[in-house]
Amino acid sequence: MPKESHSFLKMNTIQRIALILVVVFLIPVLFFTAYELTSLNRNEAMIEEIYQKQLEAILFSVNQYSDDAVNSWMTKAEAGFTRLASDSSSLKNLLSVTPAIRLIFLTEGVDPIKSVHLISPDPFVKDSLKRPLETILNQHTPLIQKLIQYKNTGFQKTMVVPDSSNTVWGYTTLLFITSDAKEELRVAGFVIDADLFVEDLMGPRLQSIAKDQFILSVFKGNNRLYSTLMFDSTTQFSAALTKDLWVFPDYKIGIRTEGTSLQQLVRERTYTNLYLLTGLNVVLVLALVLTFRSVKKEVQLAQNKADFVSNVSHEIRTPLSLISMFAETLELGRVKTEEKKQEYYSIISKEAHRLTGIVNTILNFSQTEAGKKTLHPAPLDLTREVKEVLRTYDYHLRSKGFDFTFEGPEGITVWADQQALTEITINLIDNAIKYSRDKKHIEISTGREAARGWLAVRDHGIGISANDQKHIFDKFYRVSTGNLAKSPGTGLGLSLVKQLIEQQNGTISVKSELGTGSTFKVYFPLHG
Ligand code: ADP
Repeated sequence: MPKESHSFLKMNTIQRIALILVVVFLIPVLFFTAYELTSLNRNEAMIEEIYQKQLEAILFSVNQYSDDAVNSWMTKAEAGFTRLASDSSSLKNLLSVTPAIRLIFLTEGVDPIKSVHLISPDPFVKDSLKRPLETILNQHTPLIQKLIQYKNTGFQKTMVVPDSSNTVWGYTTLLFITSDAKEELRVAGFVIDADLFVEDLMGPRLQSIAKDQFILSVFKGNNRLYSTLMFDSTTQFSAALTKDLWVFPDYKIGIRTEGTSLQQLVRERTYTNLYLLTGLNVVLVLALVLTFRSVKKEVQLAQNKADFVSNVSHEIRTPLSLISMFAETLELGRVKTEEKKQEYYSIISKEAHRLTGIVNTILNFSQTEAGKKTLHPAPLDLTREVKEVLRTYDYHLRSKGFDFTFEGPEGITVWADQQALTEITINLIDNAIKYSRDKKHIEISTGREAARGWLAVRDHGIGISANDQKHIFDKFYRVSTGNLAKSPGTGLGLSLVKQLIEQQNGTISVKSELGTGSTFKVYFPLHG
């Protein structure tokens, strides 16, 4: 047989149920939770990625749009340059529909630049920008060389002159290479008011992209130059994504979602899922614990019941065999002396008593449990009643070698059923006798505490462990000491006592230590 199944069989029923509950319910749920948790993170990361990509695509399209605008100027300007000698109206037209272009220029020759021709509707701009522009062109020969290289490979490109705004009134200078009718290269370009470009050209486009979903802003350095939202609080850092503007590298475009951002939404959803999952797990674990506890209780009860049947059978068999044995001996007339006969009679009577006691306990218990036993509480003097029981029980106690003390003031009037009170007292004293070993001394006392009267029975016997103390009031429960035969019982006594006391609105408690002894204390409600 495989080792595991062997040890599985060796487990007791409760351990097996616990194992089944864990394997069938807990482990799958824990796996599922772990899987869900990892997939939650994965989903979040995926959505985040898609979102970033979408934002990137939008910013890319804005850049593309601006680039296209500049390229179309370049094409228009080139077309204008070819007719420049006869007519510069198409360039003037470009300038008038595009206020962001402050000036268009074209040089004669590239290396060296022989002269610069300026076209602008504003003569003042023309005059004052001529010299700074010439300086710029002379200073940036490497840039021009690069543009020429591009042009030679068939790629016409515009490039911004770095820091040109310092020289030309804060405007930006854009250069490109063009060739004239004689295939001679020339440097051309625009002096542009970039801020106006952003506002006039990019603005409408940004608005149409933004709609109600996004906020698009343009930044120059750390300042926000333009935003699709009137009262925007976006900074470069609060934008979800920022990119350089291709046409003007000093500028950046930023984007974020309007209202709750997608990340926030995703995060909220993740948290909600997380809370739900945690809640579900907690409920499941609680349910499992509760199920396990109730099953455990039932299994224990079933075990106790089985023990009970064998106990009781044993308990009944001993007195019965003694009775029949002595009765037969007497019947056969084998007992000669009167003294011996008396001894046998008393044994028969004692054993019959024991039998009655056991049967009474069982009957009492079943009646009480079925609710068939109705109690008749009345005002009783607790001390007097207990003393009365002790008086009739005195002989029994002493015959078993016990001595006892009683202490308690009279006048504690409790509200209790007399018969039940007697039964409770006898049961507790019987247990004290049964579970005492060498120290055969029992202390019985009564008293008053708050609005209750109490009766305590203390012995110096074997005591009860803390764990067993939790169960001794359960029906059929007996502490397994390994030598149960020594103290016969049914496991019903304390359960009956508890039921009786609770029916009278009282309570029972136990204080005990293994090897030292136990004190059982029952409380009754005071009368009046
Ligand atoms: P039983 O018929 O076994 O005495 P009870 O319900 O009266 O049934 O008691 C339940 C268990 O509690 C007993 O089996 C015994 O182990 C323990 N018990 C009860 N009274 C005492 C006591 N005075 N000292 C030690 N153990 C006790």
